[in-house]
Amino acid sequence: MARILVVEDEADIALVLEGDLKLEGYETEVVADGETAARRAREEKFDLILLDVMLPRKDGFQVCRELRHAGVRTPIILLTAKAQDAEKIMGLDLGADDYVTKPFNPWELRARIRAVLRRAEGELPKHYRFGDVDVDFGRCEVRRQGLPAGLTALEFKLLSAFIRARGRLLTREQLLEQVWERGISLSDRVVDNHIANLRKKIEPDPVHPRYLVSVRALGYRFEG
Ligand code: CA
Repeated sequence: MARILVVEDEADIALVLEGDLKLEGYETEVVADGETAARRAREEKFDLILLDVMLPRKDGFQVCRELRHAGVRTPIILLTAKAQDAEKIMGLDLGADDYVTKPFNPWELRARIRAVLRRAEGELPKHYRFGDVDVDFGRCEVRRQGLPAGLTALEFKLLSAFIRARGRLLTREQLLEQVWERGISLSDRVVDNHIANLRKKIEPDPVHPRYLVSVRALGYRFEG
């Protein structure tokens, strides 16, 4: 179970967040100011920090910078109420992993949390081999029998997601979240089409896939 430090000074928002995260199965700790947040994040190991930007005593930007300077690598999602702040987050090298704007859609926030946690947990090897395919993550290159397999950037991302989750089912919804990131409104068909193309590039027999296996009605599993 992942532990999330929620930093939010508005009590009603904090309460909603806490309830929502608990329902999702996360363990939470709520603090209401930047100074306490910076201290708690150093004292204990959290898996994720949800960090409001406008906070008493120390704002979210400061907390974020301070933690990164102190070598704390815990993933951080910033919560911001202002559009200008969203731009700032993208422009500044704060060390945050993502941001969500208020008022946030709980579905979107949950998706972001899952994506950030997954990225943090799944470190990829430098090279990965299956069959006659060699994946070089350093160079973002896929070769088959020594020759470039011609994957598009998106297909590479898709294959990476599968390798990270090897042996585990990935639903179409999870793939949309992880690979397309903000592509929540895309249809499942998009996933299927890209899988079909990817199979042509990595499978010995794309019609009878050996590595990118379909799991009926649910999604796909990588068995390389
Ligand atoms: Ca606030």
